[in-house]
Amino acid sequence: MKKLEKSTKMDHIGYDIRGPVTDMADKMLAEGIDILKLNTGNPAPFGFNAPDSLMEKFTQSVRSAQGYCDSRGLMDARLAIADYCKSKGIPDVTVKDIFTGNGVSELISLATQALLNSGDEVLVPSPDYPLWTAAITLAGGTAVHYLCDEKSEWNPDIDDMRSKITSKTRAVVIINPNNPTGALYPKEVLLEITDLAREHDLVVFSDEIYDRLVMDDLEHFSTAALAPDLFTVTFNGLSKSHMIAGFRVGWMCISGDKEQAKGYIEGLNMLASMRLCSNVPAQTIIPIALKHYNSADPLIKPGGRIYEQREFITKAINDIPGLSAVKPKAAFYIFPKIDIERFGIHDDEQFAVDFLHEHHILFTHGGGFHWEKPDHFRLVYLPCLEDLAVLGGRMESFLKSYRQS
Ligand code: PLP
Repeated sequence: MKKLEKSTKMDHIGYDIRGPVTDMADKMLAEGIDILKLNTGNPAPFGFNAPDSLMEKFTQSVRSAQGYCDSRGLMDARLAIADYCKSKGIPDVTVKDIFTGNGVSELISLATQALLNSGDEVLVPSPDYPLWTAAITLAGGTAVHYLCDEKSEWNPDIDDMRSKITSKTRAVVIINPNNPTGALYPKEVLLEITDLAREHDLVVFSDEIYDRLVMDDLEHFSTAALAPDLFTVTFNGLSKSHMIAGFRVGWMCISGDKEQAKGYIEGLNMLASMRLCSNVPAQTIIPIALKHYNSADPLIKPGGRIYEQREFITKAINDIPGLSAVKPKAAFYIFPKIDIERFGIHDDEQFAVDFLHEHHILFTHGGGFHWEKPDHFRLVYLPCLEDLAVLGGRMESFLKSYRQS
């Protein structure tokens, strides 16, 4: 066999959520060092669980799930998803337009693979959820990053987006609510993006996995509902809203001008069939979860854990000299800015490594989200208040003397 020192296919795919920082964390763990892992949005290890009654109903339903199902997903699951789409105002979504997946992650790969030819460009936010960029690259396309503007509550910069459209641009990715910034886009911003998509004939990929984790009584607008004519693929799932990331339950639904997208839809169906179907036992939770347990209100209202942890971390970060952060409106991430002049920082990955080494807390540097300047990092604020207080204290004392050489 030829040596496989490098993966020929994966070599050019950047996915910095893995990399030197996580490698070092793995090494420390292997040495028996305890690490607080704030690098992935995985609610369960932080004591977030689905309600017991939901799990009891699930264990009953799972018995009937031993064979493959339709490659698009279980009928009951897709009926429940179609109802959910309707409740969000997404027009004309029938069971034929819905695909379940092993998490949204699988569907991001599927949707990009079916669309892209070599050299095709896709507009992706910066900062991004990096799987989008990796999947586009793996599918042979090129991710072109448009700026989200911290000064404007991390909303997409429409002029920047417009300036990046070329004759090769095929699609635009919208992540709303946003990971890593916690932004929630106003209707007007979404309408400006859909106007651009219409003008340039772009497919819209709208990743809305955090749509039920919106705070302060703000409203989430589904992109597809605002532009019923536009061909849109909307992604959602139960990993975050129902805190069952390990179940790997996600879906995508297509809406808008499906007639014009016939070939693409055929491709989606072919790719979905090639992996037979997504995990069937896990899909049986979808109808129960969406019909009877579809509210994260106890967590996101005042007094709820996510809400209170958001309040705490925002203040803690902004109280540390040299750090600042826009208050997140949704999800459970914050993307603080570092005054890099003050600390002489030129390498944000090194900053994350140094903090991990000294304080045994793992977070992802801004570059991991295709943010160009070394002046940001992302924290997952899922830990309880006591742990967040420890984090704040350690960060403050670390920065008192931190200087990069
Ligand atoms: N999209 C975004 C914006 C995410 O933050 C995540 C996970 O963190 C995913 C998609 C993937 O979610 P899953 O594969 O668990 O459904």
